[in-house]
Amino acid sequence: MKQSTFLVPTLRDIPSDADVISHQLMLRSGMIRQSASGVYTFLPLGWKVLRKVEEIVREEMDRSGAQEMLMPSIQPSDLWKESGRWEAYGPELMRFKDRHDREFALGPTHEEVITSIVKDDIRSYKELPMTLYQIQTKFRDERRPRFGVLRGREFLMKDAYSFDHDFEGLDKSYQTMYDAYNRIFSRLNLNFRAVIADSGAMGGKDTHEFMVLSNVGEDTIAYSDESDFAANIEIAPVKVNYDKSADQPEEMQEIETPDQRTIQEVSTFLNVMPEKCIKSLLFIVDEEPVLLLVRGDHEANDIKLKHVLDAENVELADETQTKNILKTSPGFIGPVNIPAEVKVIADHAVSYMVNAVCGANKEKYHLKNVNPDRDFRPNLYEDLRNIQEGDPSPDGRGTVRFKEGIEVGHVFKLGTKYSEALGAQYLNDQGKSKPIVMGSYGIGVSRTVAAIIEEHHDENGIVWPQNVAPFHIHLIAINIKQEAQRDLAEQLYEKFLTEGREVLFDDRPERAGVKFKDADLIGIPLRIQIGKRAEEGIVEVKERKTGELQEVHVDELSAVIS
Ligand code: ATP
Ligand code: MG
Ligand code: MG
Ligand code: MG
Repeated sequence: MKQSTFLVPTLRDIPSDADVISHQLMLRSGMIRQSASGVYTFLPLGWKVLRKVEEIVREEMDRSGAQEMLMPSIQPSDLWKESGRWEAYGPELMRFKDRHDREFALGPTHEEVITSIVKDDIRSYKELPMTLYQIQTKFRDERRPRFGVLRGREFLMKDAYSFDHDFEGLDKSYQTMYDAYNRIFSRLNLNFRAVIADSGAMGGKDTHEFMVLSNVGEDTIAYSDESDFAANIEIAPVKVNYDKSADQPEEMQEIETPDQRTIQEVSTFLNVMPEKCIKSLLFIVDEEPVLLLVRGDHEANDIKLKHVLDAENVELADETQTKNILKTSPGFIGPVNIPAEVKVIADHAVSYMVNAVCGANKEKYHLKNVNPDRDFRPNLYEDLRNIQEGDPSPDGRGTVRFKEGIEVGHVFKLGTKYSEALGAQYLNDQGKSKPIVMGSYGIGVSRTVAAIIEEHHDENGIVWPQNVAPFHIHLIAINIKQEAQRDLAEQLYEKFLTEGREVLFDDRPERAGVKFKDADLIGIPLRIQIGKRAEEGIVEVKERKTGELQEVHVDELSAVIS
C-alpha cells in the first residue's frame, strides 16, 4: 500500500474529546473517526487491525468446533416479548417501527433469534450438542458511550451460543469456549484474567468475564498473582446506605428506616413486596448512584418504569425530578444510596439482594422461586463478601490484589431460560420432549482492538504486536525526490509485495520528521528507512518496540527481517 494514496489522516494534536490513550491514538493514527456519539467509522488502517483481531477470534472459534453463521441485526419485537426482554432490557435496546407500524429492535445480542432458529430446526438429541457463532455489528444505546470504541453504541461482537441435552453437556461446551477464549486473548498479547462474575438476572449459573488489566477498565477485579483466583468485585454483596432524608411515598412510611442498612436489610423490603414484580433502576443523583427498587403489579409497574426511564433520558441528574417521581409514584421505595465506588448495574441489583438473603442461611427471609445452587452459588458469594486488598486469597494461595479491568469477553451458562421461554425443545432418546440447555459467549472485537492499544503503546504512539499489526513493514523513503532513494524504495516495495509481505510504503513528499512521527504513531513493528546511503544499497532497519536501529545492506535484508 502506498501511503500517498492511503487514507490515513494522522493528527498531531491530542483530540480534546478523547480521555483515554487508546481513543486518542486511534483518532491520531487515523484508524477511526466518530460519526455520532458512540458510533465510529473504521478507516482503512483501523479496519485492517479489526479484521486481524476478528480472524484470530474466528480461527479459535472454528478450532473449538463452533460453526459460523450470520443472523440479522433487525429483530422483531415478538421474540423479545416472548423472552420477556422487550421490557427488561430497558432503554439500551434500540427500537424502531417499520412503515407498517411493526416494532423491531436492532440486535444488542442474539439469544432470542438463535433460540427461535434452533427451535424450528433442531428436533432430535442426535443433532446435539452444537455451538453456533457469528461476528457482527451490535447495537446498544449505552447511557454513557465513551472512551471511543471501548464503549460504543454500535460495535463489533463475536457472539456464540451452545446447545446441549443437559447441564453436564453445557459444562463441557462452556469449558470448550472458556479454553478458546484463553487461547484468543493470549494470542492477542493481552494481560488478562478470567474472573468469576455476577450472573445478573436470576436463572443464570456460572459465568466468567475475561478482563484485561488496565487503568481505564470500568470494572474492578480482585485477583491473586499466585493462583487462578480472580473475581469481579461486583459479585460480592455490598453495603448500601438507606437515605432516610429522601421523601418517602406515603404507603411506605410505616416501614422502619434505620440510618444504615446493609443490602441484606434492604432485601427484607423485597420480601414484603408482591413476589411477582420487583425491578430495580439505577439513577445518578448528585453524582451518586441511587438505586430505586420498584414494586407493584406488572402493568402499572411498567408504566411507572417507563415514566422513570423517560425522566432519566430527559434530566438524568435532577434530584428534584427524581424526588417528585418518588412522591407521585407510590410503587417506589427508596432511593437507596450506593457508595460511588461501588459499580452496580441496575438489572443486577435484585440478584445481589437475593444472594445476600439466601446466601446467608441464617436469615429468616427467603425469596420465592429462587434456589441456592441452581440460581447462584451461596458459598462463593459468602467467601467473597467484604473481600479486601491484601487479604489472603480465598483459595489460600497468595494475596488478593485489586485492579481495574476492561471486559473483553464474557461466557455465560444460560441454562433453559430462553429455550423454555421460546419453546426450544428436543426429543431425547426415550422420545421425551426436553428443553435445550444453552450457553452464550461474547467477545467485544472492536473493544479488544482498543484494549490492545491500551497495553501496547509508548509516548510516541501505538506499538503493534506482530499478529495484529495493520502492516508488518513500514518502508520509508526519507527523501522521495532523491532518485537513488526513490528507485531503491520502489524496488524493495515490489520485492516485499512479491514475497507476500504486508508493507506500507511512505512515498509521500513529506519531511523526514513528519514521516518518522507518523510511523511512530501508526506503530508498524518494523521500519525500513531509505536515506543517504541508498546509492551504496544500505538501508536502516528500525524496530518500533525497542527503537533499535541497524544499517543493513539490501542483500542481507531478508535475513534481518526474517
Ligand atoms: P459492559 O459491562 O462493558 O457494559 P456487557 O457486560 O454489557 O459489557 P455483554 O453483554 O457481556 O457486555 O457483551 C459481550 C461483550 O461485548 C462484552 O464482554 C464486551 O467485550 C462487548 N461489549 C459490550 N458492550 C459494548 C460496547 N458498548 N462497546 C463495545 N463493546 C461492548
Ligand atoms: Mg453493558
Ligand atoms: Mg459487563
Ligand atoms: Mg458482560
